[in-house]
Amino acid sequence: MIPGAADPARPAAGRFAAGRLAQYNDRMATPIDPQSPAALARGREKYGPVAALLREMYGVPEWRPHLSPLDELVSTILSQSTSDTNRDKAFDALKARFPSWEAVRDAPLDDVIAAIRPAGLANQKAPRIQEVLQRITAERGELNIDFLADLPLEDARRWLTSLNGIGPKTAAIILLFGFGRPAFPVDTHVHRLSRRIGLIGPKVSAEKAHAIMEQIVPPEDYLVFHLNLIWHGRQVCHARNPKCSLCPLQDYCDDFQARLPRAARTVEP
Ligand code: SF4
Repeated sequence: MIPGAADPARPAAGRFAAGRLAQYNDRMATPIDPQSPAALARGREKYGPVAALLREMYGVPEWRPHLSPLDELVSTILSQSTSDTNRDKAFDALKARFPSWEAVRDAPLDDVIAAIRPAGLANQKAPRIQEVLQRITAERGELNIDFLADLPLEDARRWLTSLNGIGPKTAAIILLFGFGRPAFPVDTHVHRLSRRIGLIGPKVSAEKAHAIMEQIVPPEDYLVFHLNLIWHGRQVCHARNPKCSLCPLQDYCDDFQARLPRAARTVEP
């Protein structure tokens, strides 16, 4: 049994108070703006117990060794539509084949494609990497993005998303993992779990979820909560056939509660 998995005998302490159910019914009866105070309050209310239960299960997860911001940028481009293992293989191959990012920028395209083949979509990712490296050089006079550490967060995010192939998720990963700045990345696992649990509304897009999650989760917990949601998505809450019987989040999960008979629900989705 997964540590921290739901215990049917667990007392209702920590569950949503009964009186809240009626409030949620009222609030959720009609569609509401996902960034309205009511929707954000509901997300924040769920965040506390959900984060605590995930920490109980997974602790503070280990992240791969810290990369420099520019390394993180290239690594996130490689990570698109592939596994962490293949991303890392391609990244290591790139570093082994070229002595510097300047050399990657100036290399024949085919050489870069060959080096990053393990990441898949090499024909798309290689020109994207070279284009980004060229743009940084043209704009900054050198291959360095450390200036983003000193920009206001939204300016840094805007600059990153102005690069071809860098969307809100990739920008948030670079800001959080490369610079330790308070940006919350929403990948496919985080998006799926956030909607199922009800941290965000069921129709909120991944793109819009970034801003909402940043208002729900305290900044000091962005990294751990992001990684624990991903871990839970990989281990338990799969896209198909989530293992709900092993999941300690049942009491807080809109998707699970909606599948229970009304009388058995602890929270109304
Ligand atoms: S859908 Fe199931 S596995 Fe996923 S969070 Fe809800 S209860 Fe857990």
